[in-house]
Amino acid sequence: MDYVKIFIERLLYPAMNLVRGNRTLEYLQKMKKTQYASRAELLSFQEGKLSALLLDCVKNVPYYQKYDYLEEAIKLDPLGALNQFPILDKETFRKNSELFFNSKLPESERIENYTGGSTGEKTRFFMNRETVEHYEAARWRGLSWHGITPGSRSVMLWGNPIELSREDQKKYEFKEKWLKNRVIIPAFALEEQSIRNYVAKIDAYKPEYIYGYASALDAFAKLMRIEKLNFKCTLKAAVSTAETLYPHQRENIEKAFGCRVVNEYGARDAGILAYECSAGELHISSDNAIIEVIDFPSGKEVPCGKSGDVVVTDLNNHIMPRLRYRLGDEVILTERRCDCGVNLPLMESIVGRNDEMLHTPGGLLVHGYLVAKIAQSHPVIKRFQIIQKEVERATLRIEPAEGRNSADIDLFVEEVGAHLPGVAIDVKFGERIEASPSGKFRYCIGMGDKAR
Ligand SMILES: [Zn+2]
Repeated sequence: MDYVKIFIERLLYPAMNLVRGNRTLEYLQKMKKTQYASRAELLSFQEGKLSALLLDCVKNVPYYQKYDYLEEAIKLDPLGALNQFPILDKETFRKNSELFFNSKLPESERIENYTGGSTGEKTRFFMNRETVEHYEAARWRGLSWHGITPGSRSVMLWGNPIELSREDQKKYEFKEKWLKNRVIIPAFALEEQSIRNYVAKIDAYKPEYIYGYASALDAFAKLMRIEKLNFKCTLKAAVSTAETLYPHQRENIEKAFGCRVVNEYGARDAGILAYECSAGELHISSDNAIIEVIDFPSGKEVPCGKSGDVVVTDLNNHIMPRLRYRLGDEVILTERRCDCGVNLPLMESIVGRNDEMLHTPGGLLVHGYLVAKIAQSHPVIKRFQIIQKEVERATLRIEPAEGRNSADIDLFVEEVGAHLPGVAIDVKFGERIEASPSGKFRYCIGMGDKAR
């Protein structure tokens, strides 16, 4: 019996609600009802929240006050009125961020956060507890579709959260273990030598699920397969987050871990936007956010079945609202219905993030995934990373597997080059390709927004 799980679910969460006013479980209960609502009910729920948000924006958020002429339109048809607001890109937000604070809400309620951004520029934004707790509730709802509850024991494959002193590290580990029923395995330290110990550690700990970046789970799975290791414990799921999960990664992880992979789609600055259900479909958290798929540069809405940029309006963040915020991800929506019982609308697929795209001088757009696919058919490549900072050139870092000859590597480089006409490829060998401090193994670092 998992006593920590019982402690967390029966005592800790209710106490957090009583003492600290944490409403995550309350939101979770509500969201478990909305997931079965009819489309008409869901629409009316969205309209209610959106109307309150937009009216708050035009009254109290300096950046949006110039749209106060939309007040009547918002009251009549909030979804229609939303279209009258401009799409907000990250740069405009960064430059004007002070104007996005709600002047009616106290500063003390602001919770600060950052997104990294591959191009190095950090975006600072703020949420309040209501927002964060809704994100948490959306995650627990998604996990509930796989029999996972807030106290379920887990292992997290992650980066080092912060540089902690030894004492703080111990405190942190204690909190993780006893208050979250979770241990963390540092994703950046994965190597052949350590994998056996980690697998043994996980077997002894018997988690219900493993949570991590797609690339970290994939790297772990690869090492398990190289060392011919399997888990003895039974996992309910491997939950992949924060990065695009590619089919070859899913296959790799499922084979090595012996469990299903569940995709969580979200963004630090937009929360949990979609979650994979038991039938393998991605259900959108439409009760938390409005997702539009837009074509650029036309700014027109893209129909279901076609890919476009995600533009998100968080319905709970009143402290620093960002309307129609462009995340930099490309997705496809679908009108299909899922037969798992959950009624939330579906996302057909996540095509990828803009910064995973490579560009050629001729205007060709090549997905980094293609390079990963090529690498898969060349066992000589243990790890690689392609970095493009300017259109004319890219650096291809290669960490070869042992005992392979250079002709195999040349073939790989040649094949990659053939897909990137006009791009000079500088090859760099030998250095160990490590995960970023956050724990992600990024194999493609494109130019992102700078390409436009
Ligand atoms: Zn479903």
